[in-house]
Amino acid sequence: MLTLLASAPWMVMSMTAAMDNPVAASVTYCHYTPAFTPAALRMGDECFIPAKLAGRIGWACTVRGDNASVIVDGRRVDTFVRRIGTDPYIALRTVAASIGAVTEWGSDTNLRVFSKLYKISAIGRGLEVRGTLPVKSNIFAVKSPHRVVVDVMGARIDKASLPTTEGNVRYSQFNDNTVRVVVQVDAPPILTASAMPAKLLTSVAWKGGSSVSLDALPSGQAVKPVVSSIAKPAVGLPSPTVSVGVLILAKDTVKESLITILVSGVAPQQLSAKRDDAGVYWVGLPNARVASAAMGEISGVSIRSASFVERPGGGVNLRMELKRPMGVKVSSTTDNISIRIVEPKSAGGTLASKTIVVDAGHGGSDGGAKFGGLREKDFTLAIAKMVAEELTENGTTVVVTRDDDRFIGLNERPKVANRSDADFFISIHINSNTRSNSQSGTFTYYHRDNADCKLLAECIQAEIAKVSGLPNRGIRSDRKEAPANGFAVLRGSQMPAVLVEVAYINNATDRGLLQTWEFKKRVADAIVRGMRTYIGEQQED
Ligand SMILES: [Zn+2]
Repeated sequence: MLTLLASAPWMVMSMTAAMDNPVAASVTYCHYTPAFTPAALRMGDECFIPAKLAGRIGWACTVRGDNASVIVDGRRVDTFVRRIGTDPYIALRTVAASIGAVTEWGSDTNLRVFSKLYKISAIGRGLEVRGTLPVKSNIFAVKSPHRVVVDVMGARIDKASLPTTEGNVRYSQFNDNTVRVVVQVDAPPILTASAMPAKLLTSVAWKGGSSVSLDALPSGQAVKPVVSSIAKPAVGLPSPTVSVGVLILAKDTVKESLITILVSGVAPQQLSAKRDDAGVYWVGLPNARVASAAMGEISGVSIRSASFVERPGGGVNLRMELKRPMGVKVSSTTDNISIRIVEPKSAGGTLASKTIVVDAGHGGSDGGAKFGGLREKDFTLAIAKMVAEELTENGTTVVVTRDDDRFIGLNERPKVANRSDADFFISIHINSNTRSNSQSGTFTYYHRDNADCKLLAECIQAEIAKVSGLPNRGIRSDRKEAPANGFAVLRGSQMPAVLVEVAYINNATDRGLLQTWEFKKRVADAIVRGMRTYIGEQQED
């Protein structure tokens, strides 16, 4: 990690003169214009941003008294803090300049921050472009003659310190925020963007032809780019494609994180995140390629790691390991994809801080499923009591819908939970089907497509599957069984609610286990562990 000192006395003094009239300002950071509330402020030539919002541009800022340390892409900058009202602000221009970024006021109230390119290498069949900040790149091939073109957006060439070059590359400031890099090759290139997790780096490799010849311009000479044929789709490029690049952690709190993926091309629509059995979240981006390896991996308060993984057959997956189960919502606009990671309903805190309703299915005149002299209602009550006892030992406020053999209507059960203002509703049932010994194992149902209920079902089902010794039949929406409205007990609950079908009463193996204390206890404890996982409570051992 590199440490730089950003506060020079003259900078502080020159700003002091204009401190009296701060003006609200916006910031364009490379290719990204984050919203700041409270707003960034222009004072003199400096732009101050609220320290607590530095994460919006991917900076991690820690304030200590009058000083702050800012981590920008692994480099640390120590700077001063200016208090405006009671809020600490940091000097964006000064910090950005200290890490070699280019800044300028694009208008009186829009500060623009650019990555300064300092190295462009074309060696063999690869091109690397390095800058002082992560950038968004658009990489394509053109014909007549064959060239590889990389448009590096949010970047500047500094005439006073031109980038060093290796190999014969040409580059120019194509427009006021794009540097175009051109490498001529002797055959139609097939581009493969590198997924190497280096930061501040755009890299691209290509193949095609028996050799690659580069044109003979002197290194480092800026020339006008060749633009005549770029409108044509490039030969050899998969189509249609969208290039995904920079991962920005635009917001990062315990309750909510926001990852923004900058894309060029048309962002895919109707994306969704899937959580696999190992708890890893995946967002599939068909027809995408990693155009820039910049900021290849990010982490945050609830994110252990997030990075792109190229799919063997084409396309890209965003892979996210979270520190705890979270709701993940994906949306896209024309030039970015947003991954919103939110704390699920009733999560946070500990089991001891929760009120949980445990519902033993059936009861009284309603025996539920039966086999010989065995009744579902007796097994559900036994397991529900074990769940309630385990929760009580953890300090949870437990409400049971019944604790003896009595009839309770379906609609009454969720009402108990709603009246208790409960955090969770857990209904326990035993399954049966039309043919004995044809099915075995555990299901957990959630209501329709409720994301919180689904996540709770995943957490509980995963724990049961670890200890039951029976087939893991997974989670299911209740509309598979009741397409119109789902299950009454889940439909009526105002909190995350699931229904566990523990095992099949008409399967000999399942039934044998149901009749043991150990099996019921294992399942009951697993249900409690599943809730603890959902809450995100740190577990001992
Ligand atoms: Zn039942």
